[in-house]
Amino acid sequence: MTTTERQRSTETALDFDAIVIGAGFGGIYALHKLRELGYRARVIEMGDGVGGTWFWNRYPGARCDVESIEYSFSFDPRLEQEWNWTEVMPPQPEIEQYLNFVTDRLELRPDIQFETKVTAMTWDEDACAWTVETDRGERYTSRFVIAATGCLSAPLTPDIKGMDSFGGISLFSNNFPKEGFDFSGKRVAVVGTGSSGVQSIPVVAAQAEHLTVFQRSAAYTMPANNRPLAPGELEQLKAGYPELREAQRASLAGVVRFGGALRAGDPPTRKILETAPEERMQLIDTLGWAAPVAWADVMVDMEANHAATELYAELIRRAVKDPDVAEALIPHYPMGCKRQIIDTDYFATFNRENVSLVDLRRDPLVEVTPSGIRTEHEDFALDVILYATGFDAMTGALNRIDIRGHEGASLREFWESEGARTYLGLQVAGFPNLFTVTGPLSPSVLANMVLGIEHHVEWIADCIEYAREHGYRRIEPTAEAQDAWVEHSNSLVEGSIRTDDSCNSWYVGANVPGKKRVYMAYTGGFPKYRERCAEIADAGYEGFALS
Ligand code: NAP
Repeated sequence: MTTTERQRSTETALDFDAIVIGAGFGGIYALHKLRELGYRARVIEMGDGVGGTWFWNRYPGARCDVESIEYSFSFDPRLEQEWNWTEVMPPQPEIEQYLNFVTDRLELRPDIQFETKVTAMTWDEDACAWTVETDRGERYTSRFVIAATGCLSAPLTPDIKGMDSFGGISLFSNNFPKEGFDFSGKRVAVVGTGSSGVQSIPVVAAQAEHLTVFQRSAAYTMPANNRPLAPGELEQLKAGYPELREAQRASLAGVVRFGGALRAGDPPTRKILETAPEERMQLIDTLGWAAPVAWADVMVDMEANHAATELYAELIRRAVKDPDVAEALIPHYPMGCKRQIIDTDYFATFNRENVSLVDLRRDPLVEVTPSGIRTEHEDFALDVILYATGFDAMTGALNRIDIRGHEGASLREFWESEGARTYLGLQVAGFPNLFTVTGPLSPSVLANMVLGIEHHVEWIADCIEYAREHGYRRIEPTAEAQDAWVEHSNSLVEGSIRTDDSCNSWYVGANVPGKKRVYMAYTGGFPKYRERCAEIADAGYEGFALS
């Protein structure tokens, strides 16, 4: 059944009740939810398939760091039971297949317009609606716009001199060829050692004739401990779904089962600074890669953080045979400041004969040449360069659309001058009827994304229903409510490792030259956040102006 067949809307003067941007987890669920409620909705998607992050990031080794059983929709038990995961940590192809399965199962495809980019959006105060423009020259009017544009979806292409002159093949982790790429017999470079680089390096190394890793900042990474699900294991997990979902919602990060090396369910209580140095080191033998992270004080006390980093350094020294390479792989910034990465065979890869590491802090990258990469000390002849250089996170995707709200105000200019400001990560003052799924200053990237997305989509759908029932056509946060939320969100991270000057992560926008430094996720935990959102809705959407 398509939107038009089930519509309940009376808004015939507008093309749509809601336009949803993006067909990843967020867009797919938003479309389903809105259609269920009888709204005329359309998803506009840049790619030629569904998946969002999991459509574009198809680099070798791409895998989610949340267990498959938890990284899936919870809103429909039939979907949970019908889909079969094969591994503990889901690989990219399987997540993409899963999202295609959901799309087809819910018959969503007819209402998704593929290969179309939203280029501009203008708020029309008289019509109380958005005009949405696309790169195909279309102009749609819609009462609401739901930006399901993703947190890490605006690729950041590095500004390296000579990149375009390279005579070999340039690949990008965040826009990897759909047909895959065979690295066999090739001299390959990977530039970037964040999550994407760390995941792809072992897989590329296993194929390439030679792999040179160009590392600017070393990675804090630990084994994913991935494995195929054992016979009968999936059935058992599926039987426990109701309890699992409940536990997920009650947990700080929306995650209960931790497949990675560490991560005990409860926050640790023991302090590293109150533990004798010899005992800390002994813990490496018992806890392995969990030893550096299992402490209560590492995220709030820099001295504790340094002590934990020492344990991490020791683990790397044990894993990597060449002492110089091991030293270069030890991070020189606080642990926990960037995203903790999980990997498969990352450090062991540097013990391979065909892999070498270039530490760009000691030998800076000068330029890309027609035949390879030149650093200050050396020329590297290459056939392929794989850039895994990250994203303009949280605000990037929306900033790439020319969004004009109340009185022509530009969202891009607002965020560029003031930093990422929102109310609850759901709306921005001055931009009525625009909802952001897992927007800045919501738990988003610090929680299980799928759970965060479901929560937001359901909250937004309830809000739209409330507006319809009460005859409201316009909703936006008050500037005061937004200011208070920004202040609250910022106050939670002030003084922590995450916002320390030495911590230059994408969470604070430090990877984008000139981006205003703001910690862009809400760190108060998923349960508290949900509670606050519910209270606000129950109080008649407190802090929002409805008219
Ligand atoms: P990233 O974490 O931002 O890493 C980018 C890497 O490229 C960094 O090592 C960075 O060095 C380097 N880099 C950037 N520009 C460079 C330049 N001009 N020259 C040399 N090196 C340069 O990006 P990402 O790896 O794509 O990951 C982004 C986020 O996506 C992750 O933190 C995670 O949240 C998510 N992700 C998750 C998964 C998963 O679930 N398993 C997988 C992939 C991504 P500096 O650090 O020095 O800037």
